[in-house]
Amino acid sequence: MTEFPLAGNGHIKSSVMSFLREKRMPHAILIEGDPGTGRHTLARFLASAAVCSGPDVPCGNCRCCRMAASSNHPDIKITAADSGKKNITVGQIRDLKSDTAIKPHMAAANVFIIDSADTMNEQSQNALLKVLEEPPQNTFFILISQNKAAFLQTVISRCIILSLSVPETSAAAEYLSKNTGYSSREIAEALEAQKNNIGNALLFLEGKSDSEISVSAKEFLRCMQANDMWGMLKAAAPAEKNRSDADLFFRELKIKTVSLIRENLNSDRAAALAAFYRELLSLEKSLVTNINLSLLICTLVSRASQL
Ligand SMILES: [Zn+2]
Repeated sequence: MTEFPLAGNGHIKSSVMSFLREKRMPHAILIEGDPGTGRHTLARFLASAAVCSGPDVPCGNCRCCRMAASSNHPDIKITAADSGKKNITVGQIRDLKSDTAIKPHMAAANVFIIDSADTMNEQSQNALLKVLEEPPQNTFFILISQNKAAFLQTVISRCIILSLSVPETSAAAEYLSKNTGYSSREIAEALEAQKNNIGNALLFLEGKSDSEISVSAKEFLRCMQANDMWGMLKAAAPAEKNRSDADLFFRELKIKTVSLIRENLNSDRAAALAAFYRELLSLEKSLVTNINLSLLICTLVSRASQL
């Protein structure tokens, strides 16, 4: 059997290993966690287990496992918002539903992964609910999300919830030193900067922390201080692409606003910046709901221009 792929998260590991051992994988699993906590890694592991033809699933060696690892397995289908779109549409869920009627090509099961499942609106969730209530035999649904609060209670009640969290420092460091070539000093620095979030620590180590989003956040604050509303809207555009970019954008804005407050402690601007920080905290909360991201950014710009 392939080793459980995540650091820490002991409670998840024991429940996953126990249902795999007993060959009783739940037909609907909702994975929730922040970006970087291993949600997709866990989804791939579970999908491999569902299609694996080995005795101890996922074996990691059979043809199905190898195809799953290279994202080429015909019976593992991924639904995500279409490019340029923020939400998974009800049409996509209807397509998924009709695909559930098709027999698997290679494996004994069909697996449907819904990425950023929390971007489904109520109508899409209700459409999905019907198939979750009466799933065809040997069909598994894996929903990946940031926060289960975005789901209808009726959907949640049909799923087994696996809530991922960042691991302890020692477990995260052990994972990174085993899986990357970075020194223990570099790993410790990355984990401290990224609060033990392994995915973010990897980006940090690869030198991508100065990402497009980070540059956008910096530009947003520059425009805010110049009272340039159009500039703010333009700078925030990359955050409208998807929820995880929006989340990153807010995080970068918070970090950079705190540094600006520190730099301006003795000036009149400190109070306005502190007020902006409070706005960020309050607006950020709506990210866990199904809020329209363009609307969220417009609200942010409007609040920022009133400070
Ligand atoms: Zn296998």
